Amino acid sequence: MVVPDLWSGRCQCGDHTYEASGIPDDPHLCSCEHCTRLSGAPAMAWVGFRRDALKWTGPAGEPTYFSTWPTLHRGSCSRCRTQLTSVADGSDMIMVTIFSLTRSGELAPVGHSYREAAAHWMSITLAPDPQRRT
Ligand SMILES: [Zn+2]
Ligand SMILES: [Zn+2]
Repeated sequence: MVVPDLWSGRCQCGDHTYEASGIPDDPHLCSCEHCTRLSGAPAMAWVGFRRDALKWTGPAGEPTYFSTWPTLHRGSCSRCRTQLTSVADGSDMIMVTIFSLTRSGELAPVGHSYREAAAHWMSITLAPDPQRRT
């Protein structure tokens, strides 16, 4: 049995900090048009937690949300602009940026969304997906 763990994360300036419990779900990269433009980088790295298992603990509470699609909302710090979260309407999951986590080094992406749209020079080795292991 995997013991649910406590994870913490924060933005660069520390206005927003969070704690999430449980097993991080589906760590993956995304190279969609929105992720690359928002980050100014070839991909963003995301991992999911149950929405009710994440709480905001910093002085500024929840991040500021910006909708990149009518149904998809991305949270960032209004002071330091760190990208923190992505939430889809109707989902019970919240995605957090892997590198906002204190223990980001423990997670490796198992997938790469919009890989075909990624920069042609980007070459990565994905971790084996535990959910697809037989
Ligand atoms: Zn900040
Ligand atoms: Zn994306």
